[in-house]
Amino acid sequence: MGQALTGACLCGASTFTATPVSDEAGVCHCSMCRRFSGGMFIVTDCSGAFEFAADAPVTRFQSSEWGERAFCSRCGSSLAWLSRDGRMAFASVQAFPDPGRFPVRHELFIDCKPGSYCLAGETATMTEAEFMAQYAPSPDGGAE
Ligand SMILES: [Zn+2]
Ligand SMILES: [Zn+2]
Repeated sequence: MGQALTGACLCGASTFTATPVSDEAGVCHCSMCRRFSGGMFIVTDCSGAFEFAADAPVTRFQSSEWGERAFCSRCGSSLAWLSRDGRMAFASVQAFPDPGRFPVRHELFIDCKPGSYCLAGETATMTEAEFMAQYAPSPDGGAE
């Protein structure tokens, strides 16, 4: 906590520095996160302290009105969800050398999770409706 970490993609061309807000990780089970990550998108909040290396070949895909997803243009690794206003940054824990230091405490869009798998252990969960009620910027805007 409070320590700057370096994250990297599979090929190593895209790196970033980030300081996680806490040691906690969260999973989002929404269809966008599942397609983007190719699995479970497990992230930790690095808002306010997330920066790609200047020469990182990163593509930002705008997935909604207020969010974009960053991935390595060379190897395709999913690296982060970023708010377009620059205020929020959630980094994939898999980009860090020791993802195990971030225990998964939250599961979002739990009602969108395929029934074929689930996480072990206790987590706080939110449904899509609960998430939207709390975080959606506008009644018609998608969250991610
Ligand atoms: Zn790469
Ligand atoms: Zn999601």
